[in-house]
Amino acid sequence: PRVQDPDASIRATDTDAVTARLSAVQKHYLQDPFIKHLVPRAHLQQPRPPLINVGTHVRCTAIDSLVDQWLELSARNGTQCQIVSLGAGSDTRFWRIATGPRKDALARYIEIDFPEVTTKKAMAIRRQKDLSSALGDPAEVQISHGGTGLLSAKYNLLGADLRQSPTNTLQNLLGALEGPLLSPRLPTLLLFECVLVYMTSEASSALIQWFVDHFRNEGDGAGPIGGIVYEMFGLQDAFGKVMLSNLKFRNVSLPGAEDYPTVESLPSRFLTRGFARAHAMTLRNIRTSCIDDVELERISKLEMLDEIEELELVLAHYAITWGLWAGADQESAWTSW
Ligand code: SAM
Repeated sequence: PRVQDPDASIRATDTDAVTARLSAVQKHYLQDPFIKHLVPRAHLQQPRPPLINVGTHVRCTAIDSLVDQWLELSARNGTQCQIVSLGAGSDTRFWRIATGPRKDALARYIEIDFPEVTTKKAMAIRRQKDLSSALGDPAEVQISHGGTGLLSAKYNLLGADLRQSPTNTLQNLLGALEGPLLSPRLPTLLLFECVLVYMTSEASSALIQWFVDHFRNEGDGAGPIGGIVYEMFGLQDAFGKVMLSNLKFRNVSLPGAEDYPTVESLPSRFLTRGFARAHAMTLRNIRTSCIDDVELERISKLEMLDEIEELELVLAHYAITWGLWAGADQESAWTSW
């Protein structure tokens, strides 16, 4: 039998993520006109159970709100910003921003994932007019890096293994002195949506550290950097162990899954790397305290959800952590984020 590439099961988690999002869109939890173009044909009709749809809604609404506030604060501070999505998979956020009310606040959007994933995404973008038309003048859109990348004025897609030394990989891709993609002078938001769990804590710390060092080298005019992490945590308890064994059963290697036993421990991801502030909230708390009543009422009518206790147990094991790194003179302008 053929020996399976151990990373194939990690890459396959993108299909899970994109089908979960499509399911939530088809059931009217979320709006996303672009997602259908990025779902493999065989997965187009695979509705997820209500519990998963509700979880997807809470997570996406919360991250959308943090990203939206970042764009709004950039505009208010008189600058454009950059967004870097690490392990972006088939995410559609760039297209939603580029066709939305805050598009002018975005200077550049960079996505990185394994080359196998980015090659397919680059092809889908070229094929689908809905996706390619958001990239601007077609003459300035180019397939790069041997087909694994795609470069355009704002949107840039790059293939890399994020576990490799960031001082080589990210430095080459983003920070190369000639024509660097990333400007350390612009407010820059890093998105780690469901990706750090697949790498060791050493590898994920090194990733965050590379951005901090790269921006710090710029001196007074640098940054700020915002970071958003979405992940499972607290897998040491009985329910967490069940979640973990379900995932391991599918042969996904999760070296980062047990690093954070409690929600209080999550901000240290950022605080130990020199971030000034960081906060974490479980999806369970976000659902009850951050999503407004009108929206909760609307969601409750979409599908029958009997398993409220199970929902709360699952949501209590997922969290969003966000943190800010900023020079002393800038921090006050970003305190509301
Ligand atoms: N962020 C997207 C979202 O939330 O919809 C995709 C999440 S999916 C669960 C995880 C993604 O991280 C996959 O696309 C996978 O290929 C990518 N990934 C995991 N480990 C990676 C690594 N070492 N280097 C690059 N990409 C990685």
